[in-house]
Amino acid sequence: MKTRLNGPFVIPVHDIVRHPGEMREHELTVSLKERWGEGLVSIEEGTDVVLDVRVESVHEGILVSGEAATTLRGECGRCLDPIEEPVEVEFQELFAYPGEEANDFEVQDDHVDLETLVRDATVLALPFQPVCQPDCLGLDPETGERMTESTEKEQVAPIDPRWSALQKITDQGNAADRSPENTEGS
Ligand SMILES: [Zn+2]
Repeated sequence: MKTRLNGPFVIPVHDIVRHPGEMREHELTVSLKERWGEGLVSIEEGTDVVLDVRVESVHEGILVSGEAATTLRGECGRCLDPIEEPVEVEFQELFAYPGEEANDFEVQDDHVDLETLVRDATVLALPFQPVCQPDCLGLDPETGERMTESTEKEQVAPIDPRWSALQKITDQGNAADRSPENTEGS
């Protein structure tokens, strides 16, 4: 075996190389050896990444497309509660045959290595400001406790009854202004 390439995301393509039109599908599950992402949420070491990959032989090289599914973990940016959510991303890239031009992605020894491609797509999909739920109210600045619906309602000032009376007068004024136009139109 003269294969020099190895790694969990390496897929052999020797049977379709230089055979435009040929296509193969691969399913693989990779347990990460390192953490992906540096933010509040990331894909932790040891998390499974499930890949559904299509490799197609084209004139310029091997066109790789597929989907990756995994799980992000971290904490809510507002209340610091733990978060665990599924992440699904799609990816597509042409792995060119080695030539005179340098390419970011190349077919090497009849293999394609999807690690950079899948990692970049996944990290890009991670939220910058993750929240445990869209309406998370965060922590109370005084107590440091997690705020709930009820604690928020207490802070809303009641409507002054004098303003509602004033509102009634303005409504009547507007109705009077509009009445000539109304008769004209009918
Ligand atoms: Zn939260």
